[in-house]
Amino acid sequence: MIGRDLLGIEDLDRADIERILETAERMQEIGEREVKKVPTLRGRTIVNLFFEPSTRTKASFEIAGKRLSADVVNFTASSSSLSKHESILDTAKTLDAMDPDAVIVRHRVAGVPKRIADVLEAPVINAGDGAHEHPTQALLDMLTVYQEKGRIDGLTVAIIGDIAHSRVARSNVYGFSKLGAEVRVAGPPPMIPRDVATLGVKSYHSLREALDGADVVMALRIQLERSTGAHFPSVREYSSTFGLDRSKLRYAKDDAIVMHPGPVNRGVELSPELADRRPSVILDQVRNGVALRMAVLYLISGRPGPTAKEDA
Ligand code: ASP
Repeated sequence: MIGRDLLGIEDLDRADIERILETAERMQEIGEREVKKVPTLRGRTIVNLFFEPSTRTKASFEIAGKRLSADVVNFTASSSSLSKHESILDTAKTLDAMDPDAVIVRHRVAGVPKRIADVLEAPVINAGDGAHEHPTQALLDMLTVYQEKGRIDGLTVAIIGDIAHSRVARSNVYGFSKLGAEVRVAGPPPMIPRDVATLGVKSYHSLREALDGADVVMALRIQLERSTGAHFPSVREYSSTFGLDRSKLRYAKDDAIVMHPGPVNRGVELSPELADRRPSVILDQVRNGVALRMAVLYLISGRPGPTAKEDA
């Protein structure tokens, strides 16, 4: 994968995904050492280019790069020349002229990481673009499920909530389907995209039916910043119908796990009590995010010498 962009799970095949997950499992051991640092990416420069707020993703890419000894540079929209109206592509080209080995991009508009990748020498990693994709989140979710269940093939994964506006849902639909899971989505009708069947998933408007027999239940944050508001049910109505708590979780398998990409709207998508305790694995997801992003950085920018896309 050296020099390749990582723009979405849609572009990966099963072997790519398995390779990333296996590498992430090896990276986990580094995080358990007393000195959590290896020289693997010494002399490499990783640029975090975030045009939209982020806590987990930005911090974990930064920690991942540092654990591999890369130099990590953070640019956020407000602190860079972007606040002086420099265009996105100009900013990206300016950073590229400094020869980074990978550029990580988050933007509220779908497709921006791809546009940046088209003009950059350095490989681009999509850290979330609008409602399109968030590939490293889906990869860390797959890693978490694999480690909990020992397999992904044959599992039933129910994704609940604002599917239409969620890049996490889209990436997970591609990823879990490619690894052989049955993926279901559920939510109020305006939150289910019309083209969902073309993605090969079953959609439900009843939580009970969607959870029946599920091994994995993934709750999503309501994406108020991405919805027009016109069709949005009230938060109260949403949480009473689709908000997960222990009693609704009984519809799923007895050993089902509960996931959420964060940030959690407590009491809306998940009851606070469920968010904080097993079978919720939310903090494992966060922990796995570091190892997973170490794997991605290593696989994309980890060879000696300059990283050129033409060699990929
Ligand atoms: N943190 C995830 C994302 O950036 C999920 C969310 O914000 O709801 O897409």
